[in-house]
Amino acid sequence: MLLVCSQKCGGKLFRALFAEVELDSDGEYQSHRIAQPGYVCLNCGAPAVDLGEVPAELEAEALAEAESTVVTADVLCPVCETLVQLDANMECPNCGSPLEVA
Ligand SMILES: [Zn+2]
Ligand SMILES: [Zn+2]
Repeated sequence: MLLVCSQKCGGKLFRALFAEVELDSDGEYQSHRIAQPGYVCLNCGAPAVDLGEVPAELEAEALAEAESTVVTADVLCPVCETLVQLDANMECPNCGSPLEVA
């Protein structure tokens, strides 16, 4: 988690809103849950945003992007000995032989 003030006031203290703490009859701490995510900057009172969740989302996006990117590689066709750039077709554009990335 990396909280920052949405107004970028430089405030370093934040208060979690809507946090419910659950206690049992002995007053022992059981768990807490955030009924509704929300943090407020104690410096200026503006809502704070959690930058800690952004990189994870960006990472997932980058990963999905990498998977959809066509991998190309230069290989020498074993049949016609032409240096060809492999794309998703995985076959020699010169002679049509199936190719493998070494
Ligand atoms: Zn602030
Ligand atoms: Zn070939």
